[in-house]
Amino acid sequence: MTLTIGALRAEPGRKTRGCLPADIGTTTVDVPLILVCGSRPGPRVVITGGVHGGEFIGVDAATRLAGLLEPDEVAGQVVICPVANPPAVYGGRLNISPLDGVNINRVFPGDKDGGPTDRMAAWLFEHLVDGADAYVDLHSGGIDQRLLDFVGYRRTSDDELSAKIRAMAHAVGYERVIFGTSPDGGNSHAAANRRGIPSILVETGQLGDRDPATVSRLLDGLYRLLHHLGVIEAPQHLAPVAVRPRDWIWTGEVESPAAGLWHPDAVTGDEVTEGQTIGRIIDPADGAGLKVSAVSTGTIIYNMNGLTVRPGTHLAAIATPHD
Ligand SMILES: [Zn+2]
Repeated sequence: MTLTIGALRAEPGRKTRGCLPADIGTTTVDVPLILVCGSRPGPRVVITGGVHGGEFIGVDAATRLAGLLEPDEVAGQVVICPVANPPAVYGGRLNISPLDGVNINRVFPGDKDGGPTDRMAAWLFEHLVDGADAYVDLHSGGIDQRLLDFVGYRRTSDDELSAKIRAMAHAVGYERVIFGTSPDGGNSHAAANRRGIPSILVETGQLGDRDPATVSRLLDGLYRLLHHLGVIEAPQHLAPVAVRPRDWIWTGEVESPAAGLWHPDAVTGDEVTEGQTIGRIIDPADGAGLKVSAVSTGTIIYNMNGLTVRPGTHLAAIATPHD
């Protein structure tokens, strides 16, 4: 079946690369898309990178995958969008858009009558995600974030859908597969899950990393996932899994209570117990320190590496194994 998105078309056995314009109200942005239309039938898999600025690994891995995938080795269709949120990716290094200060990964599935970022989110859902049989969103620890690689997913009230999502999450082959207990919220994968589309988040790399070895780690995971979904056979692309994927559950997130200078005592990878002091916020005016405690027991999966924080900045996210 021909793969058509907007003005871009790929016939069976063809790959098409191009851009589609997205009118987001105050401006129009070009969204790069690669359509790989397999010569055999199969599922449509949508992959996005660059939902956030400053997270380079997913952008690079998606671009490399777009170059590597050959239509004659694909069953079904693969739609790759390496830069899903051009204003945030090209206009800054943060997870918010410079156009309106909105974090797009809190507003999915978006609003086509809303502000620029809401419209961007709505465009991505309308053109890409809504047509998917499976959806994968690629993220990284940001420039000032230390992060352990993990796959994120949500449990839904539909057991069959939840089982599909969990199987996708495990197929990536990362050691930590961390789930949230509800599909609520504006994250891309959660919003897709609410529409019945099996969807996961893959977090790879940290601190603005663009190391080719980190990109390869993600590419290996994407090939394993495409193989799991029945899209590629290609054993030559499949790296063995060195670790046993394990289910983890989020237990808590620590936010900064004030603006100031963040001095962590516990960092990503450390095990902490509820109530333990994990750092202090120093007031630069008087040098006074405000203790910050762990809200739950578990391992810090990502934490703030930057010095300056404001009220509500995420200082640490904690998860624990849940077999
Ligand atoms: Zn992100």
